[in-house]
Amino acid sequence: STKAGVRVADVDALAAASFPLCMQHLLHKVRDDHHLKHGGRQQLGLFLKGIGLTLEDALTFWRTEFAQKFGVDKFDKEYAYNVRHNYGKEGKRTDYTPYSCIKIISSTPGVGDHHGCPYRHFSQDNLSAALGRMRLNRKTIDDVMTKVKNHHYQLACAATFEGVHGAPCESGINHPNQYFDESRKRAAS
Ligand code: SF4
Repeated sequence: STKAGVRVADVDALAAASFPLCMQHLLHKVRDDHHLKHGGRQQLGLFLKGIGLTLEDALTFWRTEFAQKFGVDKFDKEYAYNVRHNYGKEGKRTDYTPYSCIKIISSTPGVGDHHGCPYRHFSQDNLSAALGRMRLNRKTIDDVMTKVKNHHYQLACAATFEGVHGAPCESGINHPNQYFDESRKRAAS
């Protein structure tokens, strides 16, 4: 891969600047709860891999959080395998790819799950509060909420991108890693 490596220490700053809402939400939850259920670990973990987090840093990231709740031993016994597996280092050695928006939007998060697409799966109140925390103005929030009402979740995400960056994402939003890449291009220019 030609992608510049992302270090674990950079994750929070990159999240604030360039993660789509689905990934900001998962990161916020794992920082708060020191745990994520399987669906959330997969959605966030593969995204982090996609932005260039190395396996070693991914293990540090998940271990740092989960050890606070379960201890290091339990992490190493029960969760580390899955992290290595996602990087193709265990089992069938498939190099798993990060989930697309369609896959995330059509997932069905249950009670206690935090994966999924906030535009599709959050209540109206929770979504509008989350958008407020992103410091979007009222006009943008209204625009996003209208798109959500019309079931145009990816257009709602694109409107959020435009509100955050002050410029549209010309290619639309079809993948969380594409949202991230487009955002980094803007930060670099
Ligand atoms: Fe994430 Fe895609 Fe939903 Fe945006 S539209 S929040 S990138 S799943």
